[in-house]
Amino acid sequence: MINVDLHCHSVVSDGTLTPEALAQRARSNGVELWALTDHDELGGQDRAIAAARDAGLPYLTGVEVSVTFAGVTVHIVGLGMDHTNSTLLAGLAATRGGREQRAREMSDDLARVGIPGVYEGALKFVGNPDLISRSHFARYLVEIGVCKDISEVFRKYITEGKPGFVPHRWATLGDAVSWITGAGGVAVVAHPGRYKFTATEEYALFTEFKAHGGQGVEVMTGAHGQADYVKYAGFCQEFDLLASRGSDFHSPEESHTDLGSLPYLPGSVTPVWELLQPRILL
Ligand code: AMP
Ligand code: MN
Ligand code: MN
Ligand code: MN
Repeated sequence: MINVDLHCHSVVSDGTLTPEALAQRARSNGVELWALTDHDELGGQDRAIAAARDAGLPYLTGVEVSVTFAGVTVHIVGLGMDHTNSTLLAGLAATRGGREQRAREMSDDLARVGIPGVYEGALKFVGNPDLISRSHFARYLVEIGVCKDISEVFRKYITEGKPGFVPHRWATLGDAVSWITGAGGVAVVAHPGRYKFTATEEYALFTEFKAHGGQGVEVMTGAHGQADYVKYAGFCQEFDLLASRGSDFHSPEESHTDLGSLPYLPGSVTPVWELLQPRILL
């Protein structure tokens, strides 16, 4: 068993650490194979590759693509892609494109319920102007004392049905998978235990994901509990998928699961990194 962590975020999306600080943290936490998977963005990859090399840490390129499937936001992690692939880069740029407008609408909606200036406030937390995220809104609302922590902000203000939630159309499942595989990478369903799907919808997600060429699923990830570990290890058999392991670490202050701290994959599954051996940067 090796300590693999193939899911985390830097300041290039909605994490609070730089790619360099993440590489150091992964290294000191005993991670032996690492990927930085910023949302809809490859701008941190060169820094992560260099920092991993300096730390002597084997590395896979990564990304987490936002997808709309059956009206729900689903995340697809890509691993081992050529991060200079122009189709992938253009697809991600288009996926990021609506974030600015969405953020302004979220801010207008929050002003209507008595919380003004949230767009400007959230911008102070944004490391990449192309990637304003709900996480940045949440950090600002905690800073000004509207909520006591990030999860309270999501619960009360910025999830579906709440006053600051603005629905958004992300990439299609087929596009996200084909951008990743077309760039030589492997597509992985991120944290499936988080989606509020019926069993039928979830079956459709995995069936279509496979049909588009997707090959992996996160079994061990920060948002999963024991029941999810068992369920999605079972999906690996049922859908003939490879298993991934990634903390989804965003911040030392906010994340419950640190880099490299998840339980190992169960013995019944095949790790996705076996397929990715030739893509590992040493
Ligand atoms: P966005 O891509 O801007 O819609 O923001 C999604 C991000 O918000 C996710 O990647 C998580 O980092 C964060 N997030 C979503 N739901 C929650 C939650 N309930 N608590 C904390 N963070 C969350
Ligand atoms: Mn995030
Ligand atoms: Mn995600
Ligand atoms: Mn993530």
